Amino acid sequence: MKTGLLTGKSCPIATQDISVNLKNRNHAFKEYGYGPPNPDETNTVFWVRKATMYNAPTNTVKGMRCGNCAAFIQTPKMMECIVGGLEKDENKDELSYDEEFVAAANLGYCDLFQFTCAADRTCDAWKSGGPITKD
Ligand code: SF4
Repeated sequence: MKTGLLTGKSCPIATQDISVNLKNRNHAFKEYGYGPPNPDETNTVFWVRKATMYNAPTNTVKGMRCGNCAAFIQTPKMMECIVGGLEKDENKDELSYDEEFVAAANLGYCDLFQFTCAADRTCDAWKSGGPITKD
């Protein structure tokens, strides 16, 4: 199900509904090894597990992130959906830092598992060729 925001197009529901977004994200955490929880930490165990799964050097696997996954969508329209979804319940006169928040987390949309996703994370379904940045 999708909801409209853009002229002639619609935004994925997860960009507009935080409970759907978290449900889908938690599914990716639980079933597909989405993580690490805090990408700013060393996360040695997380990366060694991924390296073992891929049978590849840890440094190679550390380069396989959502930010360069083919399912990671950062097109202008999708970014409008993500920021619009954050802003939709705010008053027009309220201070808003949604664009800064999206930029700080380097958010995009995971088209495979359908949630807003941080570029520094990864999952077991990573595919080379991303991100998708053109509408
Ligand atoms: S499919 Fe790609 S964008 Fe989605 S969570 Fe996995 S690595 Fe990230």
